[in-house]
Amino acid sequence: MSKRIVIAGSGFAGLWSALSAARALALGGGAGEGVELVVVSPTPTLVVRPRLYEAVIENMDPDLSALFAAVGVRHLTARIEAIHTAEHALEIVASDGTRSRLNYDKFVLAAGSTLFRPPVPGIAEFAFNVDQLDDARVLDAHLASLAHRPATPGRNTVVIAGGGFTGIETAAEMPDRLRKALGDTAGAAIRVVVIEQAAGIGPDLGPVPRPVIEAALAECGVEILTGTAVTGIDADGVTTSAGERIASATVVWTAGARANALTAQIPGEHDRFGRVHADPYLRAPQAPDVFVTGDVAHAATDDQGNVAVMSCQHALSLGRVAGHNAAAELLGLSLHPYSQPKYVTCLDLGPWGALYTEGWDRQVRLTGQEGKNLKREINTKWIYPPAADRDVVFAIANPDYVIVP
Ligand SMILES: Cc1cc2nc3c(=O)[nH]c(=O)nc-3n(C[C@H](O)[C@H](O)[C@H](O)COP(=O)(O)OP(=O)(O)OC[C@H]3O[C@@H](n4cnc5c(N)ncnc54)[C@H](O)[C@@H]3O)c2cc1C
Repeated sequence: MSKRIVIAGSGFAGLWSALSAARALALGGGAGEGVELVVVSPTPTLVVRPRLYEAVIENMDPDLSALFAAVGVRHLTARIEAIHTAEHALEIVASDGTRSRLNYDKFVLAAGSTLFRPPVPGIAEFAFNVDQLDDARVLDAHLASLAHRPATPGRNTVVIAGGGFTGIETAAEMPDRLRKALGDTAGAAIRVVVIEQAAGIGPDLGPVPRPVIEAALAECGVEILTGTAVTGIDADGVTTSAGERIASATVVWTAGARANALTAQIPGEHDRFGRVHADPYLRAPQAPDVFVTGDVAHAATDDQGNVAVMSCQHALSLGRVAGHNAAAELLGLSLHPYSQPKYVTCLDLGPWGALYTEGWDRQVRLTGQEGKNLKREINTKWIYPPAADRDVVFAIANPDYVIVP
C-alpha cells in the first residue's frame, strides 16, 4: 500500500520541507517510489512575509505550482482544521467549504505564526498591521486614502505600536511612504512615532546595535517613545500608559507573534509562544510521526542554549531538516539532527540603509548602504523560491545546506 507524507503550510518551512522530502525520496532508491508527498495550504504560493513592511507591495507571493510539479509534490488548496495525532488523520476544508479527511504516515506541521494581539481596547477595530499579505494591502490602501482627508495632525501621524524588528523596519520606511501618500498636501507636518514598552528600542536585539538603530531612526525622521505602552486605540489615535494622547489615523500594531493555533492540537510541551518543543530531529516527542518546523517549532540551534527564533532565516533550515527526516524515517534511513549555529540579522532602516549583525549578541558588521545592499540581496533573491528545475532544487534542498555563509 502506498504511503503518504503531508506537510501543512507552504511558507518558508513548508516549502523547504517539501523540497527536501522530495529530494530524500528521490535519492532513497526505489523505496521512495510510491510515496505520495502532499502540501496542504490555502494557496500554492509562498508569501514573503519578511518583506511586508516595505513601501511597495509587489511580487510578494510567488506561485509554487511549477516548482512543486517539477519535484513531484501534490498541492492541496485547503486549510487544516484539526489534527488527530492518535489516528494519523487530518480534517481539511477546501476553499469551496468542502470538508474531508486526509490520512498520513508522516506529518510535518509548518503552519507558521500570526501577529499577537493582546487585549488592548480598539486593537481589532482600529489597528493596522503587516503580518499577512492581505493586512499589508489594507494598510497600503489606507495610506493611499489619506490624501483625500482634511490635513489634520492625526492624518499626518503614523503610530507604530511595538519597537521590535518589524516595528523598526515598518517605522523606518514610513516617513517617506507617508509623504509620498499625502503628496503635496503633506507640508512639513509629518510625524512617525514608535511606541515601545521596554526601556530600549529593539529589546530582543539587545544593547549592542541599539545606538545604531536610534541614530538611523532619528535620521529617517522617526520619533522613539520607550518605557511606554499603547493602552487604547480608537479611530482618532492612541492613548499611552503615560496618559498621553497621540492623534493618529494610522496605528500599526507590530508587537509580537504567536505560533499557529494548530500547535495546541499537538500533545507535548509548548513554549510561551505556543511553539511545540521539538527533539533534535524536529519530531514532536509525544506525537508519533509528527514533525514540527519553522515558526511552530521550539528547537535548539546549537549546544550553547540558543533556540531558533521565529524567523525566515531559521525556517529555511528547519524546513529542510524536518522534510528530510520525515522522508528518511519513512524509508528507514538515518535522520539528520537540526543545527544552525551561525545567527545573523539584517535590519532594514529605510533611507538610512540597513544594519547587519552577526552572533546572538548582534555584533555590528555592516551599516548604511553596505547593509542595504545585503538586505536587498536577501529580500529579493535568497529567500525566494528556486527555479522549477529538479536538479537545481535537489542541489540545495539537503538538510545541511547553509543559507547564511
Ligand atoms: C513584517 C515581517 C518582517 C519580517 N522580517 C524578517 C526578517 O527580516 N528576517 C527573518 O528571518 N524573518 C522575518 N520575519 C519572520 C518570518 O516571516 C517568519 O518567521 C517566517 O515566515 C516563518 O516561516 P514559516 O514557514 O514557519 O511560516 P509562514 O511563513 O507564516 O508560513 C505558514 C504557512 O502555513 C499556511 N497555513 C497557515 N494556517 C494553515 C492551516 N490551518 N492549514 C494549512 N496551511 C496553513 C500559511 O498559509 C503559510 O503558507 C518577518 C515577518 C514579518 C511579518
